[in-house]
Amino acid sequence: MSAQLIDGKARAAALRAEVAAGVAAFTAAHGRAPGLTVVLVGDDPASAVYVASKGKACREAGMVSGEYRLPADTAEADLLALIAQLNADPAVDGILVQMPLPRQIDSDRVIAAIDPAKDVDGLHPVNTGLLVSGRQGLVPCTPSGCLLLIREAMGDIAGAQAVVIGRSILVGKPMAALLTNASATVTLAHSRTRDLAAHVARADIVVAAVGIPNMVPGEWIKPGACVIDVGINRVALPDGKSRLVGDVDFEAARSRAGWITPVPGGVGPMTIACLLANTLAAAHARA
Ligand code: NAD
Repeated sequence: MSAQLIDGKARAAALRAEVAAGVAAFTAAHGRAPGLTVVLVGDDPASAVYVASKGKACREAGMVSGEYRLPADTAEADLLALIAQLNADPAVDGILVQMPLPRQIDSDRVIAAIDPAKDVDGLHPVNTGLLVSGRQGLVPCTPSGCLLLIREAMGDIAGAQAVVIGRSILVGKPMAALLTNASATVTLAHSRTRDLAAHVARADIVVAAVGIPNMVPGEWIKPGACVIDVGINRVALPDGKSRLVGDVDFEAARSRAGWITPVPGGVGPMTIACLLANTLAAAHARA
């Protein structure tokens, strides 16, 4: 048996088209397009690439894209002042501060300063609280995208056994909350979990969000399971080149799973599509 590949690129393209249609309708109804502003502090090259691709996706969907690039030695007070300005700007529906931030800035304080109604990353404590209590809020983009992929593959997941590996505030914890809200029975595993193999072996759904290449061997996977690989790891090849791999040993897992996401082309494209969907939702909620 070979797993069905989950085509994140195609699902993301469909979601982006849906968002673009929603943006056109919003713009016609309100006389302005939804706006997303991204703030980048410092010159981390990977962050710069993410910020540029977010801006491009935003414009392609018909939204207004704003961008602030601040120097690496920016004082926390100056960043907080910019956030206050964006909070007060009626043309800005979504504010995203690209992480990680330089050491002199307390990222928790920065996230807490963003108006929860504009927190399209879904990281503000108000939004994490709403998610855990199963109420409407802004949900972090990567786990949102994972849930869309799981639902497309499996349909109703009520009663399914799910194992989420990784407990970050960005991926693992909100993923566990989303799966719980969808009535799956959820185990949230992490670096201190004992006998991870036994947990994974009984999972109908496995979401790996760790950041260690191939840390989930294929033989752990329950036959027919849905495997969502969030990990993005660059590994060196003998010829001096490198390639991206996930947290799951893809080839081995593929021969057991029912569905599996490739890396790249699985979860990655869903993250930006969900960011656009969050921005449109934030614009509607504010209008
Ligand atoms: P993180 O470093 O904040 O969290 C990693 C988690 O893995 C921690 O909770 C830790 O407890 C757990 N962990 C570490 N070692 C473990 C082990 N041996 N066994 C079980 N659990 C272990 O990382 P993150 O921000 O959650 O990201 C995780 C991965 O997902 C990274 O590779 C990151 O690049 C990727 N990522 C991808 C996207 C995307 O759009 N595809 C978005 C965000 C993150």
